[in-house]
Amino acid sequence: MSVNQQAHTGPPYGQPQPGYQGYQQPAYGGQPLPGAAPSQYGAYNGPMPGYQQPVPPQGTSQAPPTSGAPPPASGASLPSGHLAYSQFGHGDVQNGIPASAASMQRPPASQPFLPGSAPTPVSPTPTFQQYGPPPASVQQLSNHMAGMTIGSTTASAPPPAGLGYGPPTSVPPVSGSFSATGSGLYTPYTASQGPPPTTVSQAQVPGFAPPPSSTGLGPSSYPPTTGAPRAPTMPGPPLPGQTVAGPPTSQPNHVSSPPPLSAMPGPHPGPPMSGLHGPPPPTHPPQPGYQMQQNGSFGQVRGPQPNYGGAYPGTPNYGSQPGPPPPPKRLDPDSIPSPIQVIEDDRNNRGSEPFVTGVRGQVPPLVTTNFLVKDQGNASPRYIRCTSYNIPCTSDMAKQSQVPLAAVIKPLATLPPEEPLPYLVDHGESGPVRCNRCKAYMCPFMQFIEGGRRFQCCFCSCVTEVPAHYFQHLDHTGKRVDFYDRPELSMGSYEFLATVDYCKNNKFPSPPAFIFMIDVSYNAVKSGLVRLICEELKSLLDYLPREGTMEESAIRVGFVTYNKVLHFYNVKSSLAQPQMMVVSDVADMFVPLLDGFLVNVNESRTVITSLLDQIPEMFADTRETETVFAPVIQAGLEALKAAECAGKLFIFHTSLPVAEAPGKLKNRDDKKLVNTDKEKTLFQPQTSFYNNLAKDCVAQGCCVDLFLFPNQYLDVATLGVVTYQTGGSIYKYAYFQLETDQDRFLNDLRRDVQKEVGFDAVMRVRTSTGIRATDFFGAFYMSNTTDVEMAGLDCDKTITVEFKHDDKLSEDSGALLQCALLYTSCAGQRRLRIHNLSLNCCTQLADLYRNCETDTLINYLAKYAYRGVLSSPVKTVRDALISQCAQILACYRKNCASPSSAGQLILPECMKLLPVYLNCVLKSDVLQPGPEVTTDDRAYIRQLVTSMDVAETNVFFYPRLLPLTKADVDSDSLPAAIRNSEERLSKGDIYLLENGLNIFVWVGVNVQQGLIQNLFGVSSFGQISKALSTLPVLDNPFSKKVRAIVDMLQMQRSRYMKLIVVKQEDKLEMLFKHFLVEDKSLNGGASYVDFLCHMHKEIRQLLS
Ligand SMILES: [Zn+2]
Repeated sequence: MSVNQQAHTGPPYGQPQPGYQGYQQPAYGGQPLPGAAPSQYGAYNGPMPGYQQPVPPQGTSQAPPTSGAPPPASGASLPSGHLAYSQFGHGDVQNGIPASAASMQRPPASQPFLPGSAPTPVSPTPTFQQYGPPPASVQQLSNHMAGMTIGSTTASAPPPAGLGYGPPTSVPPVSGSFSATGSGLYTPYTASQGPPPTTVSQAQVPGFAPPPSSTGLGPSSYPPTTGAPRAPTMPGPPLPGQTVAGPPTSQPNHVSSPPPLSAMPGPHPGPPMSGLHGPPPPTHPPQPGYQMQQNGSFGQVRGPQPNYGGAYPGTPNYGSQPGPPPPPKRLDPDSIPSPIQVIEDDRNNRGSEPFVTGVRGQVPPLVTTNFLVKDQGNASPRYIRCTSYNIPCTSDMAKQSQVPLAAVIKPLATLPPEEPLPYLVDHGESGPVRCNRCKAYMCPFMQFIEGGRRFQCCFCSCVTEVPAHYFQHLDHTGKRVDFYDRPELSMGSYEFLATVDYCKNNKFPSPPAFIFMIDVSYNAVKSGLVRLICEELKSLLDYLPREGTMEESAIRVGFVTYNKVLHFYNVKSSLAQPQMMVVSDVADMFVPLLDGFLVNVNESRTVITSLLDQIPEMFADTRETETVFAPVIQAGLEALKAAECAGKLFIFHTSLPVAEAPGKLKNRDDKKLVNTDKEKTLFQPQTSFYNNLAKDCVAQGCCVDLFLFPNQYLDVATLGVVTYQTGGSIYKYAYFQLETDQDRFLNDLRRDVQKEVGFDAVMRVRTSTGIRATDFFGAFYMSNTTDVEMAGLDCDKTITVEFKHDDKLSEDSGALLQCALLYTSCAGQRRLRIHNLSLNCCTQLADLYRNCETDTLINYLAKYAYRGVLSSPVKTVRDALISQCAQILACYRKNCASPSSAGQLILPECMKLLPVYLNCVLKSDVLQPGPEVTTDDRAYIRQLVTSMDVAETNVFFYPRLLPLTKADVDSDSLPAAIRNSEERLSKGDIYLLENGLNIFVWVGVNVQQGLIQNLFGVSSFGQISKALSTLPVLDNPFSKKVRAIVDMLQMQRSRYMKLIVVKQEDKLEMLFKHFLVEDKSLNGGASYVDFLCHMHKEIRQLLS
C-alpha cells in the first residue's frame, strides 16, 4: 500500500475547487482557496514580484520596435501560422471603435403574437430584417389551456381613461404587428412616464420600466392597484432546496398586471382585452395559410393529442377555474415559439452580412447562422459570447431580472479559413505594454493622454507612462497615429509574444511531449483495440501539431503499455530494436529511463514502427484482466517532469482499476440512488486521490486525454477527475466493437492528436470597474479565485465565466472584458492571447431583455445545473432552474411588457425559446435519466457539457432533425430542419437527427422501396440492417447526397458522431424518441407544450 493511497474518506470532490463546486460560491477576495497549492503564476496577473522583475533579454526576444514605425516584419522569427503584424493592413479597418451607441440592433425585444384570425396587414417577419429599430409590440401567447378565456388584443381598444397613457395615436405604429397588439397604449406611456425617447429604438421599447429605485408609477397603475408603490425587487437567486415564492400578495405591486383571470369572472376589464372573450371553439383545425407562431398566432386549440396527454409532472391540473368546465384543450404546438423558425429567421436576416465588431454591445448572429466576422476592436463571437450584451447598471437591477451575466469564452477557437488568425505582436524584451496597477494588457480601449506620453487604463483608470519605445503622437482626435498599424490598438483579439518573465521558473519552455499509454489487459487485446491503436499510431505520428509551415512537429513522443504493471519503452534512434522496461512496483511510480523515452518521431521512426508492430504480438496471449490507472498518470507525469516539459498523455483504458495500486477503485455503482438525496455521490469521485494527482499534473503542464472502452461500469466520475482538471478530453466507447466503432474512435483519435492545443495555460479575465468575474465553469483547475489553470487547452474547450456587480456601472462608459490567456504553443513558444469585448450598460430593464442571447444563457444554465448535481439533489437543481427562469420571464412581464391579461404568456423576443430549451436541459440524462442511462453515461455527459461552447450545447439539447427525403440532390444545401416532435415525422420519409454525439437515421415504415434501395442497397424496409454504423457507398444521387450531409455534419462537430439506423416501430426507436425533445419523454420529461403551460403558471404565481 502506498503512502499516497488514501482511504475513501476524502472530502467530496473538489470542495475547494470552483470547478466542482455546488451552489455555494467561493469568496471572491482573490484569496487562495483552502488547501490549494500556491499558484505558480501568482505574479503573472498581479503586482507580486516575479514576472514584473526586469530580466535580461533572452532567447528569441526581438529588439523593440522603433517609435512611430511598426516593428520590422521579421517574418522568419514569427511562427508562420500567425500573421506578422506588419502584414496587418489598413484595408479592413475603417473607423476604429465608436464608444457607444450601437447602430446595429438586435431584433426587437418582443414581438407580437397576432391572433390567428386577425388580419395581419404586415407579416411581422420583416421586422427581423435590417437591424434597425425594433417594433414596439409584444409577443403574446394566449394560453387557452384550462379554460382561460383570453383572446387577442387589438389596436382598436381605446386605452381606459385615467391610465395616464395619453392619446393612443401620438406615435404611428411602426408595423402591422404594432397596431395589432394594443401597442398604441404603450407609446404614450413611454412619452408620459418614461424619459423622453432619444432614439427610435428607445421609443419603441414596450412598457418602459422605471429604474428600480423609482417609487410609484402613479396613474399608470392598472385598476386594481392604482397608485401603488413599486414592488421591492425580486428575491435573489434561489438556493438549493429553497422554493421560490412570488412576492406576498398583500403588497400592492405589479402595476401592470391584472389579477389572475381565474379570480375574475366575467369580461375582463383590462384595456388589451378587447378581442375574443369566452372560450374559443373547442376544436379549431389549423387553417390553411396559417402562419407559424412567429407571425403571432395565438395558441390554437386542438383536441387532445396522444403525445400531449400527460401533464407536467407534479402539476396535474393547470389553473382549473370555476364555471362550466371547458372541453379539454391543448395549445397548438404550431402556435408556440419554434426553434426552427427562430434559427431560420436569424439565418435569413443576419447570414448575408459580415458581423463587424466595431460597435459596443452588439448582439452577434446566432450560433446556427453562418456568418463572417470582421474584427474591428471587439473579440469575435467565435471567441466570446455573452448572455447579454447590455448589462444592468446596478446589482439591484441584475438581481431583479435574475438574468445571469456570463461570458462563454473559447480562447483558442478555430476560425474559418476566410478569417485571419490573431496577429502576433512582439514588443521585444520589455514585453507587452500593461497597466501599472491592474496589469491589463494594451488594448483598443486604453486612452492615450498628455500628447501620447501616458495612457489611462480602461479597466481601473490608473494612469501609466508609455514606455519610450512605444511612444507615438496623437492625431487631432486623440488617437495614436499608428492606430491601424497595431493590432493591440485596433483589434479585439491578438497575441503577444511573451518574454521570459512569463515563463515558469524564468526559463523558456521546451517543446511539449505526447505520451501514448495503452492498456494491454485481456479485454483490450481481445477486442482488437491494441492492434488497432498501434496500427493507427504508425501513420498518425506524422500528423502531430506543427506550428505554421514548420517542416516537422517539435513534439516528442513516448510509449507506455500497462495492465497491473507498467512497461516503458526505449525507442532511441540509435537502437536496432526497442527495449522494454517493466515497473511492477506501482505503489511508488518512477520512470526507469530518461534517455530514449521521449524521442523525435522522424529520428526514431524505425524503432517506433518496430515497437508498434511488436506490442500487439507481445500481449496477444495475455490473461491479465486487472488494470491500474493512477500509476499510469503518475508515470506520464514523472516522465514530463524529468524532461522538464509540458505535454499530453493519451491513455487508452478499458476497465475499473481494481488492481492493488494507488488510486485503486471499487465498483460503487448503484442506480437505486437515483432520485434520492445520495444521487450526488454518483457524480462525485470515490476518492480524493485523483484530485491531488490532478493538482500535480496541472503544476507540470501534464494534460490527460482519456479514451475509455468499458464493457461495464468503470467509474467515469472518478477516472475523469484528472482529465477534467487538466483541461483534457474524455472519449467513451461503451461495448467497443471493432467493426462498428473503429471509425468513430479513429476519427476522434486523429482529431484529438492533431488539434491545436496550448500547454501550461493560465487564463485571467479582467473587467472594468463595477463588475468582476466571480465564477468559472469548465475543465480546469483553480488554485486561487481568479486564475483558471489548464495543463492543456485545446481549440474546442470553452470556459464559462460569470460576472457580478461590485459597483455601479454607467451607460456612458459601458463595461469591458479582457480575457488574457498565457500558454505555450505546440512549438514551445510562450504567448499571450488577448480577447477584448465591450458591452453596453442600461438603466432600463427593457434594454437588458432586448440584448440577451438565449443560446448562451442555456449554455450557462446547463453548466450551472450540471455542477449543482455534485452537491444537491437533482430535484433541487431542477426546481432552482425552473424558478430562476420563471423569475427572469416574470420580471420582463412585470417591467417591460405592455399591460395585458395574466392569462397571456408574454415572452421577450430574445428569450422566446427559453422555455423550450430549458425543458430540454431539465429532461437531459444528467437531470432526468431514463432507466437505460448508465451512471457512467451521466458522469460522462456531465463532464462533456461543462466544456461545450454555445453551438455545441445548442444542438446537444435541441438536436437538429432533417428530412433527408426532402433534400435537394442537386444542391449543396441542407433540407430545412423540422421541429423535434414525433408528429412532425411522416411514415413515408427518412430523417436524420444529430446532437453532436450521435446521428440517427430514422426510416418510416412507408418509405418508397426505391429510396430504400438507393440509400441502403436492399430491396425492402425489412431488409435494412439495424447494425449499420455507416451508410453503404452507393452510386446514386440520393445516397451521395445523404452521405455528403453526414460527412458535413461530422466535420462540423468536435467529435465523430455515432451513426445509428432506426427503423420505425422497431425497439431501437425508443432510443431515438428520447431525442424528440418537444414530446413528453418516457421517463417523465414534460412535452414542450406542457412545460410552457407550467412555466406560465410559475410566472403567474410570481406576478400574483
Ligand atoms: Zn488598470
